[in-house]
Amino acid sequence: MIKKRLSDGTICKKCQEAEALLKRRGAWGFIDTIIWADEDDPKSEGMRLAKQHEVASAPFFLVGKPGEEPTVYTSALKLHRSVLRDRPMTTPDAAMSRRVSQEAEAKALDEDEPQKVIRWALETFGENTAIAFSGAEDVILIDMAFKTGLPFQVFVLDTGRLHPETLRFVENVRVHYGIPIQVMHPETQALEDFVLERGLFSFFKEGHEPCCSVRKVAPLRRALANRPAWLTGQRRDQNPATRGELPLVQPDPIFGSDDAPLTKINPLAAWTSDRVWTYLNAERVPTNTLHDQGFRSIGCAPCTRPVTAEQTERDGRWWWEADLKRECGLHLDLTGDK
Ligand code: SF4
Repeated sequence: MIKKRLSDGTICKKCQEAEALLKRRGAWGFIDTIIWADEDDPKSEGMRLAKQHEVASAPFFLVGKPGEEPTVYTSALKLHRSVLRDRPMTTPDAAMSRRVSQEAEAKALDEDEPQKVIRWALETFGENTAIAFSGAEDVILIDMAFKTGLPFQVFVLDTGRLHPETLRFVENVRVHYGIPIQVMHPETQALEDFVLERGLFSFFKEGHEPCCSVRKVAPLRRALANRPAWLTGQRRDQNPATRGELPLVQPDPIFGSDDAPLTKINPLAAWTSDRVWTYLNAERVPTNTLHDQGFRSIGCAPCTRPVTAEQTERDGRWWWEADLKRECGLHLDLTGDK
């Protein structure tokens, strides 16, 4: 599909309507590649194809096999009636072709431009893509996603042990952007059983993983079910021991599967803490007031403490445990750390 991008970065209305029509009819999965016709750039690939095929303006569709002259459709409805309606809903070839195309696009992304990474993610994976929101970095993701004008979703894991300041922060973000935020809670029976057996502060003796498993990981699994992709605010410099090799885009084998592949996108992987705070201050977006008290990475109240300038952010989390264990299960394994 050739889509038109307007000079202000938004997508033309007719392109959005064409995409919505194909989605409503269950045919969007047959679109192998999106090629952009940039209004301001006559050399963009989409503009070049429009000229080549004598089409006045995107949206339009090119259908055919590699090496053959494609058939041009300027109407999504006609494309659906003529080509797509009678096809089986999915084919392994189409799925594989889509995956290869996405991987190639992901490799070409510039990690210095998270705005473009986020736009790519929302355009590629659609409105069911979610931002996992808990900290300052995640507000940057929300801010950038909001400014694309594209639909997206946000969820928060309320473990039951968050600071009141953090809950206020979540509410401030919700009101600031006027967006719905899905608040995920631990499953009641599992949490009650856990506390009955181990008490309220088991993590200091037994390590944090069992508690995080009930309060964070299980709700996260529910939050990610049936999603194609999620965005996180992870950065490499948060903890060189566990996040030093963090990629920009990665398949998520923990919460995804072969049957339901999930892509994890870390648009701020290359950003430093300074760059994060420069952005937050410049854009005047809500932040957690605990930062004013020396907290840098903020999680649950009993497991978070302020840090000094010499310490890493993650020194403020589960400080009684070794470096390599200081992940909560939400991001384990993907950098080779268990
Ligand atoms: S961060 Fe601490 S309180 Fe929160 S879920 Fe993990 S172990 Fe439990």
